[in-house]
Amino acid sequence: MEQEEIKDNTSLNFQGAAENGSQSDNSRPLRAPECAFGTRQTQNDKHSLTESRFMSAPDIKYMKRALKLSLKGEGFVNPNPLVGAVIVKNGRIIGEGYHQQFGGPHAEINALKNCTENPEGATMYVTLEPCCHFGKTPPCCDALIAAKISKVVCALKDPNGTVAGKGFLKLQEAGIEVIFGVLENEAKKTNEIFIKYITTNQPFVLLKSAMTLDGKTAAVSGSSKWISSEKSRMYVQKLRHRFSSVMVGVNTVVKDDPELTARIKGGRNPLKVVIDGKLSIPMNAKILAGEKVVIFTSFNANEEKIKRLNGLGAKVIKLPNANGKISLKAVMIELGKQNIDSVLIEGGGILNSHALNEGVVDKLITFIAPKLIGGASAPTFFSGTGIEEIKDALKLKHTRIAKIGEDIIIESDFLN
Ligand SMILES: [Zn+2]
Repeated sequence: MEQEEIKDNTSLNFQGAAENGSQSDNSRPLRAPECAFGTRQTQNDKHSLTESRFMSAPDIKYMKRALKLSLKGEGFVNPNPLVGAVIVKNGRIIGEGYHQQFGGPHAEINALKNCTENPEGATMYVTLEPCCHFGKTPPCCDALIAAKISKVVCALKDPNGTVAGKGFLKLQEAGIEVIFGVLENEAKKTNEIFIKYITTNQPFVLLKSAMTLDGKTAAVSGSSKWISSEKSRMYVQKLRHRFSSVMVGVNTVVKDDPELTARIKGGRNPLKVVIDGKLSIPMNAKILAGEKVVIFTSFNANEEKIKRLNGLGAKVIKLPNANGKISLKAVMIELGKQNIDSVLIEGGGILNSHALNEGVVDKLITFIAPKLIGGASAPTFFSGTGIEEIKDALKLKHTRIAKIGEDIIIESDFLN
C-alpha cells in the first residue's frame, strides 16, 4: 500500500503515506470538513483578500486534484514552480491542466485550453497565484479575465516578493472573487524547491543516504552495492529526475564510478556536479562520458587537466579552498547563478559531513535497510570529526516515516 502511494506521488512529501498513518506534525488536517466554517479577511492596498482558514469539501477535493496534476510536471519545469489548475462549473470539472514544460504555457492556460465547455462563470482552482506579468508567456490573469472566470481559489500566494499578491489584486479589480490558502501547506511542500530558490537564489539541497539498521553505508571492504532495496533505488531514480543536479565528491567517483543518470522511462538526467579540490577525477570516469558535468575545484588545479576535461565537455569552475576544502556555500551560490534550483547530494561520508557542517542542507532522506554489518571501520554517512556533545547534535524537524519495499524511508527537514 505504502509503496503504491509513493509510486503515485514522486514528490518528496509522502503525502499519500502521511494519510496512511505515519507521523506528520506540520500539516493542516487533510480531511474535509462538512462545510465551510468561516474565512479570515486580510487587508491589502485596495481590496480585502479572503484567506481560507476552513476549507469546504469541494475546495479540498478540487485543490487536491490540482496538486496531483501539478506533480506531472516534476523534472520538466525547473526552475519554474509545479502548478496545476482545475476549472469547475455547475459542480463538474470542465477543464484541467498543469505546467508541463519550462518555457511552455502555464497551468491556467492549459486548463482553459482543455475546457470542454465555455468557462464563463466557472471557478478555477489553481495551486499557485496566477501571474500578472509578462515572462516567457503572457500573463495568466489576463487570460482568466478574458475567459470571464468568476472565482479563483488558490493554494499559495506567489512566494516571489516582488510580485506576491499582485495577481490576486488584478483579478479582484476585474471583479473576480479570490480565495487563497486552500491546502496551502501541501502546496508549499510540493513547491519547496521553487520556494527556496525564488526566495534565496540558491538551490534547495536534499541529502540522500542509505544505511543498514546499524547505520553503515558500506561493508568493511567498502562495498556498498546494494544496501537498500530495489524499490528504494527506484525512488532515488525519481529524485534524480526531479532534481536539477546531483552532487558527489571525487572519492565517490573513484570508488563507485557512478553514471548518476535518471534511469526511469521518460526521465530527464540531472546536471552532474563533482566536488574535486585537487582535480584528481580519473579521465575515464563514467560520469565524464555523459552530458552536463560541472566540476568544482580549487584555484591551484592543474590547467592542463582542466583543458582535457573541457575537451570531454565537462565544465570546470575554480573556487577558493580555505583549509584545503571547497566551500559548499560558495558552490551553492554559483549553482544558483546558473539557474540550478535543486541539488541532490549522493555523496559519501566526507562530502556529507562538509555539507552538514556548513549548513547547506535543507532536507535529509534516509533509507534504512533491515541488515546489519557491524565493525568499527565500516563507514557511516556523516563522517568527519563528529559532534562532541549530544546537546550540540544537528537537529531536524518534521520527520516523516514510511515503508518502501523492505526498507524504511525517513524524511526530515533541517532547522536552517
Ligand atoms: Zn501564469
